[in-house]
Amino acid sequence: MKNKEIPYKIYLDEKDIPKTWYNMRADMKNKPAPLLNPGTLKPMKKEELAAVFCDDLIEQELDNDTAYFPIPEEIQEFYKMYRPSPLVRAYRLEEKLGTPAKIYYKFEGNNTSGSHKLNSAIAQAYYAKKQGLKGVTTETGAGQWGTALSMACAYLGLDLKVYMVKVSYEQKPFRREVMRTYGASVTPSPSTETEVGRKILAAHPGTTGSLGCAISEAVEKAVTSEGYRYVLGSVLNQVLLHQSVIGVEAKTALDKYGIKPDIIIGCAGGGSNLGGLIAPFMGEKLRGEADYRIIAVEPASCPSFTRGVYAYDFCDTGMVCPLAKMYTLGSDFIPAPNHAGGLRYHGMSPVLSQLYHDGYMEAVSVKQTDVFEAAELFARTEGILPAPESSHAIRASIDEALKCKETGEEKTILFGLTGTGYFDMVAYEKYHEGEMEDYIPSDDDIKKTTDKLPKVNL
Ligand SMILES: *Cc1c(COP(=O)(O)O)cnc(C)c1O
Repeated sequence: MKNKEIPYKIYLDEKDIPKTWYNMRADMKNKPAPLLNPGTLKPMKKEELAAVFCDDLIEQELDNDTAYFPIPEEIQEFYKMYRPSPLVRAYRLEEKLGTPAKIYYKFEGNNTSGSHKLNSAIAQAYYAKKQGLKGVTTETGAGQWGTALSMACAYLGLDLKVYMVKVSYEQKPFRREVMRTYGASVTPSPSTETEVGRKILAAHPGTTGSLGCAISEAVEKAVTSEGYRYVLGSVLNQVLLHQSVIGVEAKTALDKYGIKPDIIIGCAGGGSNLGGLIAPFMGEKLRGEADYRIIAVEPASCPSFTRGVYAYDFCDTGMVCPLAKMYTLGSDFIPAPNHAGGLRYHGMSPVLSQLYHDGYMEAVSVKQTDVFEAAELFARTEGILPAPESSHAIRASIDEALKCKETGEEKTILFGLTGTGYFDMVAYEKYHEGEMEDYIPSDDDIKKTTDKLPKVNL
């Protein structure tokens, strides 16, 4: 038994909820590359972005210099419904593993949407409302982002149209109904409602959809509907900015007990929770004040960081969105249909891509059966039923803790537990039935889609 001088949960007060978001870009020497216009391949100007995104969010997107953005009062009020989120010491997991490592996790699943996505959803809905818009459009894959945004839009009285990746729409009817309960309209994607949807359906009949394709539909709907803009739940700089509440809060809690993590771990789909969790720590690292090992964890079936290319690519399948420079598998890349573990996006946040490229962080990929094994162990020891996405971070944290067991090192590990898995029981069922397979794309598979990257000469 370890001496438990640190409590299981480090509690913060309401007054400890961050009052500012922290923008890592301000401290980066090499700034993330600018978004490009998909037609001209020139950097996007504010005016061009304004047809797609809300004005204040464009300011945040393009601002590489302002380190701290005040969080508007109304958003702070909303945060009080479910923040501060718990920072938990995983004593029970440590004991089960027999590791000398100290493991902490920041749990963001403590709200009805069940994930960290609410942190940015309320911010984006707030700025849309402030601009006097009627509503917003978006896509959702597994459904967490759509759910979070429905909650935020219901709270502020905004209309919401969600394009939901068809396979999820069919596999997760309860997610869909949660969104409808909060007043959103939900359409399976690809749909016949949009031109790009009809095009994709003609080219790939019977397709079960992809995030990239749902994004194209949502963008088209926004730019062709009066009083609507498009909002996105990950990848963009503004989303990482909003998610910095996770990291700032985690650091406040750790500082309370003088704890300094050696290793910080997060799962990476588009990079928003990881970007948020590491923000203040990466800030210290960039300024040369402290050092941390930072590890992004991705699925072996969709390995953007570990096997992708750092290049300009389309953010969506229909090529209507701006191009971003990022680690990417190509916008046509669709993970194998038997991939159940989430984190299916082909690209990665431009901020994290630049940091990874410059050697400020590492990345590992993990197989989905190993992820579910970790998820189950975590559920049985720590009690929380983790989302498959979050379980990638659990897997890597367990692996690091087991290394400590071999070497006898007492490292401190902090990881992001991004959400709960109640709507992922089909995936858990596959795992329990022994029907889960580990599909890993071949080099040829990846080459097929990365060969088609747009040629950009800046
Ligand atoms: C969306 C989501 C992720 C992945 O998205 P990021 O932008 O990479 O954070 C991870 N975990 C959960 C629970 C999610 O809903």
